[in-house]
Amino acid sequence: MVFPFQSVEDFKVELNEEHELFRKSIRSFVEKYLEPKAIEIEKTDKIPEELFEEAKKLGLYGIGIPEEYGGQGGGHVMEAILMEELSRVSPAFAVAVAVRGLFTVPILLFGTEEQKKKYVVPVAMGEKFAAHANTEPCCGSDVAGIESTAKRVNDHYIINGRKIFITGAEKADYLIVTARTNPPKENKRWWGISVFIVEKDWPGVKIGQKFDVVGLRGERPNEVILDDVKVPAENLVGPENEGFKVIVSTYDHTRIGIAAQAVGIAQGAFEKALNYALQRQAFGRPIIGFEAVAFKLADMLMELEAARLLTYWAATLADKGDKRFIITSSLAKTFATEVAERISALAIKIHGGVGVDVETGVEHFLRDALITTIYEGTNDIQRLTIIRQLLRDFFGVKLVLT
Ligand SMILES: Cc1cc2nc3c(=O)[nH]c(=O)nc-3n(C[C@H](O)[C@H](O)[C@H](O)COP(=O)(O)OP(=O)(O)OC[C@H]3O[C@@H](n4cnc5c(N)ncnc54)[C@H](O)[C@@H]3O)c2cc1C
Repeated sequence: MVFPFQSVEDFKVELNEEHELFRKSIRSFVEKYLEPKAIEIEKTDKIPEELFEEAKKLGLYGIGIPEEYGGQGGGHVMEAILMEELSRVSPAFAVAVAVRGLFTVPILLFGTEEQKKKYVVPVAMGEKFAAHANTEPCCGSDVAGIESTAKRVNDHYIINGRKIFITGAEKADYLIVTARTNPPKENKRWWGISVFIVEKDWPGVKIGQKFDVVGLRGERPNEVILDDVKVPAENLVGPENEGFKVIVSTYDHTRIGIAAQAVGIAQGAFEKALNYALQRQAFGRPIIGFEAVAFKLADMLMELEAARLLTYWAATLADKGDKRFIITSSLAKTFATEVAERISALAIKIHGGVGVDVETGVEHFLRDALITTIYEGTNDIQRLTIIRQLLRDFFGVKLVLT
């Protein structure tokens, strides 16, 4: 028995020539356009507009989105490659590109044909930008606790609420917004939440403060205020009152991208540490000649490759439509983000004093990695998901963990 999977076949990571060609094309985009701007992004806290334009020309916004909805096709593996390669140099730019998945995935999974045509197509083509507004001052992990309201009035809803930490909100044309359409039912706290597509230029939508968070300089999140926003009923995504399922299912898919972002961070930090250890001399020899440094690098590589395998395994299962991708994507997100944190901290230490200088381009990996352990479900929440899924899917036990 290969607990909790049935066969060793289930551990396959399926990558092919097309994936490798894609990785190479992203790598050359990164080397040509992103690498020369990486330090500037950190220092100015701004992503140059031409990078978004180049990403559009290459069709990067359409990766993972079916061709019939304006995308480039390709699945979770392709998206993971994109995320890993961009994050290796600029995790902030990676999330600026990938955040549109938090808008397109719920519509592709639960939306109507009209919603897919009207909203997914322009986003996939890079003509419009999109964000995902769920978190509120009261509640992030506790999605069922959100307090924004959506009141049905004839053929539309009136939404009121305040969302915080919304990535890409400033640039977005469209938003996925969660709000309560009804109070929860007894023993069903999650019931009564609904998901809507909101256009940012509709009356009542305001972009508030920018949060001065520790990392992802250039793509810091904003507050979104919804003040009597009139939303047509046809912009409801999925069944009314069942939006909790829409949101949780979305994160099942999108957190593979966060695992891949963490793998890219770990890869970038590892490469910088290895190069520095080879070239920096101390006590008359390269510092890689000291066991204390060499052993750190060995441990970093071990963890990096383990994180990469878990991530591409989760992506492979998701592409095969194997439901066990849910538990695997939580394993990958949790492990890879914590590995990224450890590797980037070690990479700084290997650099000594210059490691904490922004100019070296290594310290931001630690600041960025910290955020990956928090967003799209903190790692504590991932651990709950892992145990819940394990018991539910493999033992038929429904566990209430608090
Ligand atoms: C840079 C950044 C970008 C973000 N982008 C977006 C975005 O685009 N859209 C969006 O909607 N949100 C976004 N978020 C919000 C993010 O998803 C939340 O911050 C996250 O889910 C945690 O929620 P919280 O901050 O309310 O923390 P809380 O839920 O209050 O958690 C606080 C602590 O308690 C722990 N905890 C809470 N509940 C449990 C439990 N049941 N069991 C064990 N531990 C628990 C948590 O793990 C955490 O350590 C972003 C956040 C950041 C920092």
